[in-house]
Amino acid sequence: MQTPDDDLLICHRCGALLTPGRGDFYVVHIAAVADPSPPVISAEDLARDHAADIAALARAMEELSEQELMDQVHRQLTLHLCTRCYRQWIEHPTG
Ligand SMILES: [Zn+2]
Repeated sequence: MQTPDDDLLICHRCGALLTPGRGDFYVVHIAAVADPSPPVISAEDLARDHAADIAALARAMEELSEQELMDQVHRQLTLHLCTRCYRQWIEHPTG
């Protein structure tokens, strides 16, 4: 049996209680991907000491979890917005 809390949804912007089935909110999926284009490599880059670069990168990665590394490349969010907040947000999504 379902309790009311099972369907509890709250607007991520204003905190309003949302009720599934009443058409009073929007579900917004956001997918952010780091620049997928191939890197630009200069003659200067090719002349560099890559062993030192790789060692520095490996040290930096040791301090990050697998999830943090994934988050730097790709991130997905799902937001619930009440109709009023959605209409404001969709006109100015980048703030
Ligand atoms: Zn709202």
